[in-house]
Amino acid sequence: MLHDFSPSVDFPGEPEPDACCFVYAESRLLVKTTGAAPEIPSFCEVASQGIDLSHPLFLGRCRGRACYAVPSATRREAIPGAEFCELRTLFSRLADPWYDIALRGLHLAGWDGACRFCSRCATPLQARTDIRAKECPACGRLEFPRISPAVIMLVEKDDTLLLARSPRFKSEMWSVLAGFVEPGESLEDAVRREVQEETGIAVKDIAYFGSQPWPFPDSLMIGFTARYASGEIKIDGDEICEAGWFRADNLPPIPGRLSIARRLIDSFLKKHPAASSS
Ligand SMILES: [Zn+2]
Repeated sequence: MLHDFSPSVDFPGEPEPDACCFVYAESRLLVKTTGAAPEIPSFCEVASQGIDLSHPLFLGRCRGRACYAVPSATRREAIPGAEFCELRTLFSRLADPWYDIALRGLHLAGWDGACRFCSRCATPLQARTDIRAKECPACGRLEFPRISPAVIMLVEKDDTLLLARSPRFKSEMWSVLAGFVEPGESLEDAVRREVQEETGIAVKDIAYFGSQPWPFPDSLMIGFTARYASGEIKIDGDEICEAGWFRADNLPPIPGRLSIARRLIDSFLKKHPAASSS
């Protein structure tokens, strides 16, 4: 929840020395490691590390402090009292609300670096200061940060849930199904299509569950629950290499607590308290 955070694009001028500085090297974030828990360094602490701060991206204010995202070209692992950590590994280690701001910063820093020229006429874009967008000075085209919606769904059948394993998963992990929304589809259409395509199962009673920003690099995960309607499991063999119905007391390895996938699975386990949880 971004309860203490006020997003803004109204660049306040020269950053104050105590401004929060979210420095990224790809999906890694620079954090101070001198305290008991990782912390976001201030602008002057980052400046003292020799990191280029000439193009900070203003994110907004949190608890009175300005927050900036700074993409860094540095690959240095050794910075005194600080290190670049994979953002996913900082979940539950970086205190609220800083983790959520870090996710937002990662998404915007990625967009800022990748979206530099007009996609219609190739003129270098200029940042707008009134809305979160860039504008082409030649043809006037506006480029907004790209957000790619993806649906993720828990499918239930009696006291079991549908889990699948992707060949893309590094480990023997099973999860709920997910996929990107296609142009012209409603979210419910996307849920029906993805489950059908990947497992051959038809679903009904599709209901909204919740959502989660997932800036790796630019997704918004939109969670649903659904119930089995008909069909037998028939995997596509491409995106999915195994799928099956699992009872709460017989689950395979499932995703960690960072993801909405786990929140969906946990909601199922709550309804079926015979569950063991890993
Ligand atoms: Zn243009």
